[in-house]
Amino acid sequence: MAGSIRYNLSTMPAIPEIFQIPFDGKHILYRPLLRQAFIGNQAMANLVADALDDNVELAPELLHGDAYRFLSESGFLGPDPEAPRPEPVEPYQPTCATLFLTNRCNLRCTYCYASSGEAPLEEMPLGLARAAIDVAAENAERRGLPKFDLGFHGGGEPTLAREVMQGAVAHARQKNIRAEISGSSNGHYNEETLAWVQDNLDAMSVSFDGLPEVQDRQRRTAGGQGSHETVMRTIRAFDRRGFSYGLRMTVPPESVSALAAGVKFCVVKTGSVKRTLRGHRDWVNGVAVSPDGKTIASASLDKTLRLWDAETGSALKMIRGHEEGANCVAFVPNTNTLCSGGDDRTARIWDLEGGTLHACLFDPEATLVNTAATVFQIKDQNGRLVTYTWPCGAPVPAGAVCTCNCVPGKMPLPSGEELADSLRPLEPGSGGGGGGGGGSICTCNLVCTCVPIV
Ligand code: SF4
Repeated sequence: MAGSIRYNLSTMPAIPEIFQIPFDGKHILYRPLLRQAFIGNQAMANLVADALDDNVELAPELLHGDAYRFLSESGFLGPDPEAPRPEPVEPYQPTCATLFLTNRCNLRCTYCYASSGEAPLEEMPLGLARAAIDVAAENAERRGLPKFDLGFHGGGEPTLAREVMQGAVAHARQKNIRAEISGSSNGHYNEETLAWVQDNLDAMSVSFDGLPEVQDRQRRTAGGQGSHETVMRTIRAFDRRGFSYGLRMTVPPESVSALAAGVKFCVVKTGSVKRTLRGHRDWVNGVAVSPDGKTIASASLDKTLRLWDAETGSALKMIRGHEEGANCVAFVPNTNTLCSGGDDRTARIWDLEGGTLHACLFDPEATLVNTAATVFQIKDQNGRLVTYTWPCGAPVPAGAVCTCNCVPGKMPLPSGEELADSLRPLEPGSGGGGGGGGGSICTCNLVCTCVPIV
């Protein structure tokens, strides 16, 4: 380290390790093993050096001064702890070969680090590529790994060294151990290269600077044209094929202001977003995917739920019913039903086929209530008033049918209050439906949720 003084070289083992580094007219005093550092003046630096040297006797006035007290109390003058022992060094056994095949390139990027087009052309001999692959594969096998890695990189565009790249890939693929092969590339391909890359490599990192005007300004071809269109064609082909790729963006100072728009462009225009589902007229608050992955449900502030084909993105169904915005939606596994919750303080269960309401789990305080009859009403998805009774077992209003899911038959009932809060015994014909045998137990809790009027 330039300008620094390091004590305790091997010739001075008795003195703790300390660094004194000139800094802004003062000194950084650093004890790495103690993990302590501070900035002091020259007098302090001298005091530290003398205090740590057994051969130097400090003058009595220094021993009683503030500086010495500070150093003592902070522990800065203490002995070094035992130095950490270095980890045993494993023999170097790389299992990844990254090959820089050529300095040839079909682009002339403004920031090119490889001086594209300026240096004499060079290409890696295939024999050297094979030898590197052999080392990585053998090491991986010896270490019992399931695969080894082969990568292709610049400076230069590796796909332009086609013959050696093909030879290297063929050599790697014939190994007894699996080769995972990827590359870094500018993505400026002709049709043949595009097809070959997708057929032969496992993944590619594409250098792509985002917005068309930025890409065309920064990454021009050797002939001076913009490269955006060609690289986007590559990216779209990767998307269609499901080929694994990443985008790597270079942002020089003059393009920092376009960074956010560039990232957004990449997200919207590439496979990151496959489809945009449009139809809701307000915020979409919740999205769910069906267990079989075939259907997407969305819940919106526009009070509707919508079902979409997950593959094509086409709208399948719109479900109305929530009186306020719908906030969340979920598929009920192994049933044909959907649940949703909304600002109208209801949770609703829907039949997925017909989009009709199965049940409405509601907050009684949020509904129109006739206190005398303990009857609550809300509108269903068709705008009809639906009536609910509470507690379960109350007389069903005229014109209504109870469809409560009561469990028929006799059950040993818990006693007293426990019963009151959880299970409600119903007498046959008492208003709660499903009666049979010697009575029934309504499994509804507090609020009977399934008594739609007809
Ligand atoms: S793609 Fe890479 S090697 Fe080619 S010009 Fe651009 S930065 Fe240079």
